[in-house]
Amino acid sequence: MIANVLVMIRKRSRTVIGAALLSCGLMTPYAALAADCPGNPNALGTSRTLVVDPMEHPRIGTMQYPETLPLADHEVVLTFDDGPLPKYSNQVLAILASQCVKATFFTIGSQARFNPEGVRKLIAAGHTVGTHSQNHPLTMNKMPLERVKQEVDDGIASTLAALNGDKSKLAPFFRIPGLMRAEIPEAYLASQGIQVWSADFPADDWRHISPQRVYDLAIQRIEAKHKGILLLHDIQPRTVAALPRILNTLKERGYRIVHVVPATADRPATPTEPQQWFMHPPTETVATTRWPRIPNFVFTATRALPAPVFADMDWRDADILDHAQRARLGVPVRTAWPQPQPAQLAAVSTLPIPAADVFRVPEALDLTLLAARSAASRRLTQRAAAIPGAPRAQAISARQVRHPKQAAHQLPAAVHGRAHGAPLHVAPPAASNASLRVAKRTPRAEASAVNKRVPD
Ligand SMILES: [Zn+2]
Repeated sequence: MIANVLVMIRKRSRTVIGAALLSCGLMTPYAALAADCPGNPNALGTSRTLVVDPMEHPRIGTMQYPETLPLADHEVVLTFDDGPLPKYSNQVLAILASQCVKATFFTIGSQARFNPEGVRKLIAAGHTVGTHSQNHPLTMNKMPLERVKQEVDDGIASTLAALNGDKSKLAPFFRIPGLMRAEIPEAYLASQGIQVWSADFPADDWRHISPQRVYDLAIQRIEAKHKGILLLHDIQPRTVAALPRILNTLKERGYRIVHVVPATADRPATPTEPQQWFMHPPTETVATTRWPRIPNFVFTATRALPAPVFADMDWRDADILDHAQRARLGVPVRTAWPQPQPAQLAAVSTLPIPAADVFRVPEALDLTLLAARSAASRRLTQRAAAIPGAPRAQAISARQVRHPKQAAHQLPAAVHGRAHGAPLHVAPPAASNASLRVAKRTPRAEASAVNKRVPD
């Protein structure tokens, strides 16, 4: 009686403390549940069960894939490969049980054939069991589809045989041996509705390293990401030796263990948002590209379109009339060109004075113009000489023509002079054509043209 009262007091005080911690935000809801772990009030426990739909997320684990399990910060999923092997698998089961922790085991078919009781122990302890091929080949990335099928299907069949064919006890989860991923096995597993599990961090416990090193790697890598899937093996003595410390440290540092199970008809997947399946979901401060989805127009699925109604083609709509119709009907004719805006033009009453640089002629162009003007002036002189009564044109002496700069400067005067006494169409076209011809010359021809500028 006294003992019962003491137990009640102890339970009640534990509840009060748990509630107080919860109110302070120092403790997760599950931490109170973990305290109920038989024989271990300080157990790590399993904080929650996550139900996943393999069809929605066929590949997980950031060691190889973009997506991973939708875990919150400081949530860890434990996985154990390559069993069952009684000597070590049973010890792993005992350690997990002592902490009331649920994990996921990926069994090898050949191991299950040798030790079917080991598979049943995993199920009886409430863990999730997936498969890991029949013979653990490390060449699945090079295998043809037929061999991939054989390894996957045989591994499942062997594990199911240990469970008396009860498919409800086997999760459609698969880990490719050695994580030797490839498109063929991934596509085949996806076609079977089986989820491929990579991991977020290993502890290298398959290598010849010490249990201390396994512990260090596990904790360091978990702490680096703060959440994720831990890859371990239940066939290694170093794992058995390191596991208790790993769990204790996780507990001390506020980590929580999540148990993952597959969705079924009776057990819908845990509602999640797509971004939760990424290790680092985009935040408002990170730019993301989310292209709008193409709308599903109804008419894309139809072979015929509705006939337009007559009202849609009403010719009396002034906007659709052409010029001739508008003119015939008396509708004002409108042009497609932008109409001048008198108000805008009037607003520009003055223009800025052009800068002196605008009139500067580049040296090369200057030479070109000079050559053109020299030729023009010669022709002008020759033609002016042939026209009686043109004294200014005749006044351009041969000396002036030989000195191009001077002649050029005088050329406009000569042309103007011609304008009064000779037909204007003679000189300007000649100068213009000469400019065009010179402008098309190559640099070499240009030099030649400059030398020939004064042929005499
Ligand atoms: Zn393995």
